[in-house]
Formats: sequence, C-alpha cells, structure tokens
Amino acid sequence: MREWSRQQKNKGLSIGFVPTMGCLHEGHHSLISRSLKENDRTVVSIFVNKLQFGPAEDFKRYPRPLQKDIRLLKTWRVDALFHPLQNQMYSKGFVTHVEVEGLDSALCGLRRPGHFKGVATIVAKLLNIVNPDKAYFGQKDYQQWRIVGRLARDLNIPTRIIGCPTVREPGGLALSSRNSYLTRNQRLDARGIFAALQWGKKLIKFRKRPIPILLKLIRNRLQTIPGARMDYVQLVDAKTLQSLRKPPQKASLLACAVFLGPARLIDNIVIES
Ligand code: AMP
Repeated sequence: MREWSRQQKNKGLSIGFVPTMGCLHEGHHSLISRSLKENDRTVVSIFVNKLQFGPAEDFKRYPRPLQKDIRLLKTWRVDALFHPLQNQMYSKGFVTHVEVEGLDSALCGLRRPGHFKGVATIVAKLLNIVNPDKAYFGQKDYQQWRIVGRLARDLNIPTRIIGCPTVREPGGLALSSRNSYLTRNQRLDARGIFAALQWGKKLIKFRKRPIPILLKLIRNRLQTIPGARMDYVQLVDAKTLQSLRKPPQKASLLACAVFLGPARLIDNIVIES
C-alpha cells in the first residue's frame, strides 16, 4: 500500500482516502464520490478493527460481505482497496496506542470504554500507511470525525480531514452497516430516532424550558419507539463535545445512541448558533 501511494505521489497525483469497516452502502459511497471528485486517486480501506470493539460487542458477527464490497468498489471506480489482515495491522508485541483526551470521554466514549482509543490508533496507522492528501469521514459518526481531526493536527499528520453529511433512507434513518441487524419492522420503527432528534432541535431552538428538561422530553420520545432501549441523549458543544446545560450560544450537537433489537444505533443533528 505504501509503495502504491509513493508511486502515485511521484507522478504528482493527489490521493483521497476513505477508511471503512466494509459492508458498504450509500453512506460510504457519498464519501467515496467526494474523494473521487477532489483527488486524482481514491483509496478505500476495509478493516474491521478488533481494537475498537468491547468484549461484549459485535466484532465476531459484524457483517463482512467482501466480494460484494469489491464489486461495489469496482462500479464506483475506486482506484485501490486496502484490505489488511488483523495480524498484519497488529503484529505480535503491539503495545502502542493513540488517545485523544477529552474528546474521547464524551458521548459514545463514556458508553464504550476504549472504543475511541481503538479508532484513533487504527486511523493514525492507516493515515501513516496510505499517506493521503485528504481523508473523508462521515458526520454520522460525528465524535469520530472530531477526534480524527484533532489527532491529525496533534500528531502533525499532513492529511486534511474532511467531514461529510450523513446519508439517510427516505424515512430519515441514517444508513449504517449495523442496520442489517434489524428486522423490517425494526427498521421502520428506527425512523423514530431521527424524527425525535429533529423534534428536539426545534424544542432547543425555542428555548422555552431548561435544557435538562428538554433532554428528558426527547429521551421520553425516543423511548416510545417500540423495543427501544436508551443508551444516551446529550446536547454538547459541536467543537469541544462538552455537555451543555444552558441554551447553546455556539453551534451544538444533539446526539443519541439507542439499542434496538440486536443493534446499537447512533445519530445526531447539528443545531446552528
Ligand atoms: P464504517 O464502515 O461504519 O466504519 O464507516 C466508514 C465511514 O463511513 C465513516 O467515516 C462513517 O462515518 C461513514 N459513514 C457511515 N455511515 C454513513 C452515513 N449514513 N452517511 C455518511 N457517512 C457515513
């Protein structure tokens, strides 16, 4: 992979990079399209990174339809796929990790200890190997995008980190590889997540009640989704990801995680200042 990147750079070509865990969908495609538009070459990685999964999480059953993904990447006209093996990325004796303090201890970081350490470590490694000019991340995983932006700055990685808008089904459900865990009915019910966030955004903009009370109303609404079990719903500063208890003066983020059947679904909505 390094050698391929070096050859492109030697020819004066720019490289765009889209890291994924595979089971590709239109959300991934939107990042890839943007990279194809903005760069001479586009690399996609598929790597289900064991390090970012907790012991009770879905690493083993995470969908891995590799042949279908390769077909999609060909139709989408991607230039290179990087698909390393687990023991190639983490060889015997691997002990070095990247932690992005503060940003990793909000939202999902509190619920999935070690998750963002795993994410930051693999992304730093991938950026080092691929050495792209630009790398594309979805704002569906808003916290991940912010963490990667910070780590690239802090570690002097010469890649521009670009956030891309969330792609949704017509009913509003954010596309996700984990949606494949849902039954047809659960998938319809899951539309309630974004509906609740949109409703919450209006409540927060009207500023009629204190934030903790509004968050409780939004939580209650999310809990009306059949079979849903709340993980969290939080209002945070869009840059620092610190919790807000007062009406936001700057851009903020209303983010939630909800368990539905076997899936843990996350979504968010930005509230402009
Ligand atoms: P994943 O394969 O789930 O690790 O995702 C790989 C990249 O695609 C990440 O940057 C995600 O944020 C992004 N992504 C996943 N789902 C969506 C979506 N619905 N809209 C936009 N980007 C997405």
